[in-house]
Amino acid sequence: MDIFCKIINKEIPAEIVYEDEHVLAFKDINPVAPIHILIIPKSHMENLNDIPEEGDHQYILNAAKIIAKQLNVESGYRIVINCGESAGQTVFHLHAHLLAGRELSWPPG
Ligand code: 5GP
Repeated sequence: MDIFCKIINKEIPAEIVYEDEHVLAFKDINPVAPIHILIIPKSHMENLNDIPEEGDHQYILNAAKIIAKQLNVESGYRIVINCGESAGQTVFHLHAHLLAGRELSWPPG
């Protein structure tokens, strides 16, 4: 079982900032910005390639919008989804990073 499934099952702790029927969001253990939240689907998917072509998977982005408002960063935040090892994915349970609280340069590394 991957580490994020264990967080969903409350087998390991996390600082949860948002939860609904479909997603869980919690603080990243190794933040790269003053605000660094991970938003994960409760159902296991390895990465973005696993999202079915049909069906409503808007819930991750909906959660991002709600969390950005909750944390007062609506005016500037970034959502990052690393898909695959060469893109920097290290945990193989789909997750979106919500980054905010500092200037975010472009292009990313
Ligand atoms: P990736 O590199 O796969 O896009 O992102 C994985 C993220 O998960 C990293 O930013 C890493 O710091 C975070 N992470 C890994 N293990 C844990 C953990 O046990 N708890 C929390 N809160 N974050 C974790």
